Amino acid sequence: TVRVRFCPSPTGNPHVGLVRTALFNWAFARHHGGKLVFRIEDTDAARDSEESYHQLLGAMRWLGFDWDEGPEVGGPHEPYRQSQRMDIYADVARKLQEGGHAYHCYCSTEELDARREAARAAGKPSGYDGHCRELSTDQVEVYRQEGRQPILRFKMPDSTIAFDDLVRGKLSFEPENVPDYGIVRANGAPLYTLVNPVDDALMGITHVLRGEDLLSSTPRQIALYAALAEIGVGDGSTPRFGHLPYVMGEGNKKLSKRDPQASLNLYRERGFLPEGLLNYLALLGWSLSEDQDRFSMEEFVAAFDIAKVNANPARFDLKKCESINGDHLRLLAPDEFVRRLVPYLQAPGLLPAEPTADQLDLLAKVAPLTQERMVVLSEIVNMAGFLFVDPADFTVDPEDAAKVLTADARPVLEASVQALTELADFTPEPIQAALREALVDGLGIKPKFAFTPLRVAVTGRRVSPPLFESMELLGRAETLRRLTAALE
Ligand code: GLU
Repeated sequence: TVRVRFCPSPTGNPHVGLVRTALFNWAFARHHGGKLVFRIEDTDAARDSEESYHQLLGAMRWLGFDWDEGPEVGGPHEPYRQSQRMDIYADVARKLQEGGHAYHCYCSTEELDARREAARAAGKPSGYDGHCRELSTDQVEVYRQEGRQPILRFKMPDSTIAFDDLVRGKLSFEPENVPDYGIVRANGAPLYTLVNPVDDALMGITHVLRGEDLLSSTPRQIALYAALAEIGVGDGSTPRFGHLPYVMGEGNKKLSKRDPQASLNLYRERGFLPEGLLNYLALLGWSLSEDQDRFSMEEFVAAFDIAKVNANPARFDLKKCESINGDHLRLLAPDEFVRRLVPYLQAPGLLPAEPTADQLDLLAKVAPLTQERMVVLSEIVNMAGFLFVDPADFTVDPEDAAKVLTADARPVLEASVQALTELADFTPEPIQAALREALVDGLGIKPKFAFTPLRVAVTGRRVSPPLFESMELLGRAETLRRLTAALE
């Protein structure tokens, strides 16, 4: 059976590149009825943090991913945090060295740099030159006396390494371009280069789908798998590899995890739906069909084919991402839409932690007026905040006020106050009729100009849900109070 893994390092905030990798692995596992292993690669104590670990878990849950093995769910290969597997790596490292697949390297950074420079100057390959591959016992003794602490270096075979990438097709690497590489630090800490393939082997991973940035480590890892097979670690097979295309951001530069635009938290805070964001991220390197951009995760899983992933860099287009999210927003059933809006009104304190039935009722009434006009949920704050704000805290957007609530607006506001005070039935149709009569017929103002000051006075902005419905929801007393306040 197919076994794939998602194995982030808990450094910093989760970013969209990471999410795309998780998504493709998850979809691949689900499409093939396989297993997704979620593993935490936290062997770098200097960079990893517990906070980031919890953020990762929270992000995976928020996105709606499920995993078959890993944190919170356990599994036959526990533990799934590499920081808790250090004895395993120490054991494998020792066996690799005993089996002649790895050796102690005593070269200092200065020596390595000097030799690299010299090789470059001579136009030769500048990777590690194998200096410590075969040291005599005497030489080792000398280095020890000098107090040098060796790293453990993996011995690469002197042959071409070829593999068939699931995305890129046949690739091959010549030995001079893949020199011997470090797998354990001088202080004994195992490196990514060791722990990642060791766990893939022990956990029976069949397919490695990851970003193109890791392509250069693949020939090294393939050689390491062969060595692991010889020393009896894992079942002796090598996974298939598929390298997902780069994601390009602004200015056609690779989207980096430090890019603010790349932070998953930003998308959560702005109110992207997990299904909207994932739909968009699925398009970074893949497509369902030429004429269908919007799809559900079920459709994605059913159609996902790693062979159809495009090797060319994908461009992250925020506008497109928003527009697809807007499509998903409009698909939500009314009560579901309301449910999703609540946290976004709670965040700025417009709704309490436990909203009252009246507040939820009001939200249910205004929500349909906004659903067509939004691309992200946080827009509800600007669109409907005027209904939820404590009347004492209501303010008009200063820029809109300066533009719209000018001296010209006075007669409009005055006539409106009068018309609405006298109105018997305070519902949208009569409100509209009364205001038209007072402003368009009475004062001779074009509708376009007549209603903007009212909108700004009542909702606080020039962009709002439909005006007459807004007035009804706000109620006559508060509507009149705001119109009057705008006159002051
Ligand atoms: N922990 C590695 C990373 O986050 C995993 C890379 C891989 O998939 O091999 O970059």
